[in-house]
Amino acid sequence: MEKPYISIVIPAYNEEGNLPSLMDRLLPVMRGLGKSFEIIFTDDGSRDRTLPILKAMTETIPELRVIEFNGNFGQHMAILAAFERSRGDIVITLDADLQNPPEEIPKLVAEIEKGHDVVGTIRQKRQDTFFRRGASKIVNITTNKMTGMKMSDYGCMLRAYHRHIIDNINRCQETTTFIPALAQTFAANPTEIQVAHAERSEGESKYSLYKLIRLNFDLMTGFSVVPLQLFALMGIFTSLASIGFALFLLIRRFIIGAEVEGVFTLFAILFFFVGVIIFGIGIVGEYVGRIYQEVRRRPRYVVRKVHGGDEGTGVNW
Ligand code: UDP
Ligand code: MG
Repeated sequence: MEKPYISIVIPAYNEEGNLPSLMDRLLPVMRGLGKSFEIIFTDDGSRDRTLPILKAMTETIPELRVIEFNGNFGQHMAILAAFERSRGDIVITLDADLQNPPEEIPKLVAEIEKGHDVVGTIRQKRQDTFFRRGASKIVNITTNKMTGMKMSDYGCMLRAYHRHIIDNINRCQETTTFIPALAQTFAANPTEIQVAHAERSEGESKYSLYKLIRLNFDLMTGFSVVPLQLFALMGIFTSLASIGFALFLLIRRFIIGAEVEGVFTLFAILFFFVGVIIFGIGIVGEYVGRIYQEVRRRPRYVVRKVHGGDEGTGVNW
């Protein structure tokens, strides 16, 4: 098989209910484009029928490949594994739950063909819970402030990348990452377009609150050291303020005498600062933990098998 022009990359974790309708909508869109393409799924250690369903699909869909993970390594690792095996000039990522309508793909392709190397997306009328939308807003604003990047919607995974961006991402070996932000650091000419957003078609979100917090820590610590710098600055200001306060107490002692009242007010202030210190140690810990993970150099994910594709034609999977 010739090198395809477009690679579609889809991570799937327990998505059995969505796969048939996803393929029913994705295939006509891709065939309609009239360009060669491949579809690469990563089965991220699903415990439902996701893998058998995908394997059966490879029998009838020659453009389909399925990377079978040895366990659950997370959405971003699933995408990276597919990136490493993708061959298209244009690579498009998409969620498996039909929250990103496949019908938007031609718009993304057109933007890359205009000369953009990264096409980001902004979810129009986002169909998620009030809590998720609020949290996203905070994450988007703080991430832009901390990293100096300008992206409106970090969370939307319907995105397109030019081959050279993918090649650069493949050179990175970091164990915790956030792909839209990583791509943005390599982009020379990025753009953003509005895309439709739907409710999750079947099943539930694969992100628990805990996983979501972990992911956002990855985003913050992976692309900025501003949290550490903020703590250093806070330390300097607190020291300066305490020198001022000591001077004030000294002068007060000469004029009015020693102070005795307000011991518990002091406790309240002290507890506040103890809280700040523990928070600071936690932030340092987040960075140290990630450094530890990186230096161990364990494999980031384990591929058990790759299904579908053109075995025997020299393409090395
Ligand atoms: N996903 C994955 N591994 C995981 C969690 C999620 O491959 O550990 C996939 C999931 O199957 C879906 C995409 O990542 O295709 C986005 O997940 P989800 O829709 O649950 O996230 P949400 O839309 O709630 O942010
Ligand atoms: Mg989703």
